[in-house]
Amino acid sequence: LVYIANENRYKEMIYNRVGRSGLKLPAISLGLWHNFAGVDAYENGRAMLHRAFDLGITHFDLANNYGPPPGSAEEMFGRILKTDFAPYRDEMIISSKAGYHMWDGPYGDWGSKKYLMASLDQSLQRMGLDYVDIFYSHRPDPDTPLEETMGALDLMVRQGKALYVGISSYSPEQTAEAARILKDLGTPLLIHQPSYSMLNRSIEEGLQDVLEENGVGSIAFCPLAQGLLTNKYLHGIPEGSRAARENTFLDANRIDEALVAKLQKLNGIAEQRGQSLAQMSLAWVLRKGKITTALIGASRVSQIEQNVAALSNLEFSETELKEIDSILA
Ligand code: NDP
Repeated sequence: LVYIANENRYKEMIYNRVGRSGLKLPAISLGLWHNFAGVDAYENGRAMLHRAFDLGITHFDLANNYGPPPGSAEEMFGRILKTDFAPYRDEMIISSKAGYHMWDGPYGDWGSKKYLMASLDQSLQRMGLDYVDIFYSHRPDPDTPLEETMGALDLMVRQGKALYVGISSYSPEQTAEAARILKDLGTPLLIHQPSYSMLNRSIEEGLQDVLEENGVGSIAFCPLAQGLLTNKYLHGIPEGSRAARENTFLDANRIDEALVAKLQKLNGIAEQRGQSLAQMSLAWVLRKGKITTALIGASRVSQIEQNVAALSNLEFSETELKEIDSILA
């Protein structure tokens, strides 16, 4: 079956400028960390990508190690780019990253120029691309000079293998330093990818100020806390959910009575707003306009549809915000 994109795909989505750059990203982006590769059903992943693009999601976030097995998410995405999305490449922002373990030996992990350059070439090959739109240093490397890691990002742009560069999970201090080095090199830091949700607000303590001062955008990963901030776990751990599956990063032990009680209260506020808990959680991440885009994951098409519909109510009253703060305090 030939895929033809929905002609109304740009009508509803909100596009936000990334920091002080010329680039805009959709308020909701889709990440391919889980459910798109290797062990996961190909047709389901494909259907999710089609639906996302049809809803105006132009940004797809990958990394060298997404799978399992590592690399298989990029392979799957590359296959679909070739068969279905080839006419739409210029309407898409595709990102990849390197920074976590990818291959054995001293050159397949962390932040050396050797690792980053080789990994980007491998990612391009797996996806069948000439360039990625954004390439990230996936995590700070305490043992490599920041000049070297940022120098690698700058070189990628000069080689035309990446258009923009980003960093992920860097502290406020490391971010300020990275922004300074990149500015000197002439390749501005486009974006930071931190974890951010109602359950993890650490970026409010410093990082957001650094980003604003430096005109850097932000893309919040795990905005639903891997599914905790949805109605999924309000009454136990359903079969097939991320918390029920082996080899995921969502520990079922985290879902205790105290957390569920909080989630139920949050769900009550969401209901009053006429939203699902997932929708309110995404609206909350995007509130005040400080986050450029919320980077969701999904295991089925209906989740993407529900999550994009969050954009029809992004406003919070002061009372709602205070109630949320007190539930989570
Ligand atoms: P989320 O917090 O959005 O969690 C997504 C999961 O929540 C889904 O897989 C699904 O889980 C569940 N879910 C989503 N929508 C709904 C809904 N409406 N109702 C019920 N359940 C729902 O994000 P992820 O943890 O998936 O991370 C998103 C992306 O962020 C990744 O794909 C990756 O691109 C990026 N990331 C980056 C990191 C980094 O270090 N830079 C680290 C982690 C992620 P279920 O399978 O249970 O249905």
